[in-house]
Amino acid sequence: MARMKTINQDNLREHNLSIVMQTLLGHGSPLSRAQLAQKTGLTKAAMSLLTDMLIQAQVLQQMAPTSEPNSGFGRPATPLAFVPHRWAGIGLQINTDGYGYLILDISGTIVRSEWISKAMIDTDPATIFAELDRMVRPAEAFLKDEGYQLCGAGLALPGLVEGENKLLFARNLGWTDLDLSQFAVVRRLHAHAYNEANVAAIAQIPGFATVHDPDSDQLGPSDSFIFISTDVGIGGALVRDGHLEAGQHGFAGEIGHMQVDPHGAHCTCGRTGCLETLAGRRALVEAAGITTHEHSAERTFALDLISRWQQGDSQAAAAIYAGLNALTSVLASVVNVVDIDTIVLGGLWSELSGSLAPRLQAGIQDQIIGSASVKVRVLTSAVPEHSALVGAAQVGLRQFIDHPRQFLPQAERKAE
Ligand SMILES: [Zn+2]
Repeated sequence: MARMKTINQDNLREHNLSIVMQTLLGHGSPLSRAQLAQKTGLTKAAMSLLTDMLIQAQVLQQMAPTSEPNSGFGRPATPLAFVPHRWAGIGLQINTDGYGYLILDISGTIVRSEWISKAMIDTDPATIFAELDRMVRPAEAFLKDEGYQLCGAGLALPGLVEGENKLLFARNLGWTDLDLSQFAVVRRLHAHAYNEANVAAIAQIPGFATVHDPDSDQLGPSDSFIFISTDVGIGGALVRDGHLEAGQHGFAGEIGHMQVDPHGAHCTCGRTGCLETLAGRRALVEAAGITTHEHSAERTFALDLISRWQQGDSQAAAAIYAGLNALTSVLASVVNVVDIDTIVLGGLWSELSGSLAPRLQAGIQDQIIGSASVKVRVLTSAVPEHSALVGAAQVGLRQFIDHPRQFLPQAERKAE
């Protein structure tokens, strides 16, 4: 009985430490102990104990005192903020156009990142993971030298991921049925694998695992939105009330394979006329007559597409408008099904947006069932570059936010 009681108290303390950190992250700017107590519903005495533990463990630091009336902790009140240069998460990504890593500080700054651009179709997984391992090792040594604690790692992949470490397939890489734990870098960093759209969506949630600036956010920490990742493949993710809805198997949001035209082009999934065959990066480049080369997935061709379209090339425009119509139709259906009115565009279509985002928004608005009372918003990604890498680093950091006890030896000692 005594042991069970101890375990429960430890779990409760860990839960409360996590709540304190989540509250501070969600708020976006420093909060005093009294404000934290008020926002969490915890007692002031409990808040004093919890914040002392977090300060001792160098998670939080006391900022310059401000005058806060009725703080109950004596005046002036002392705001608490996360300690920078101490806690980091690492994101790894293998995508259709290259691979790399990104390290994120809990304060929200990018510590270090590296990306190799390369057409990845039919590459050898073992070779690519070995390359990624070689890239990341000096970064890990750098973190150690700088006194960082690496909290966790996420791995973003352009395919269906089952559980933490099984890639069922990534057709645009030509990879199938891979146990990712066979790769040294995945094992060493305890990296959890995710579909790239899911982590790119997480990167849009303010305060998910890093400090954010509420004044510049386009979304709130508890907002709902549909995230669309547009690359060679088109992926999607649903975030409801600030939480990713990955679905029963983690496969939710695969909108790239919604059929737009039953008589359309053959898709990598085996069907015909999927959204990807009209609005995917390779499909657009090929329809615009730029190349049908086996390396048509390379990013340079997409940049060529954008520049041709901007210069008034009619074939490029026709390709883009056919893609836009397909995207509009699918997104209107998605809005109808999930009843979420905000869409965040990432990847190629966010680069194309400009005059297209209002057109897309107006088109979806016209096609949805609840048009009279639903106001659709189409936004572009708040993280313009490598949002999946940023999200993967965030899920690494989130391991610390959700399970702080293993990182806080001080807390353990105090609990005994
Ligand atoms: Zn398909």
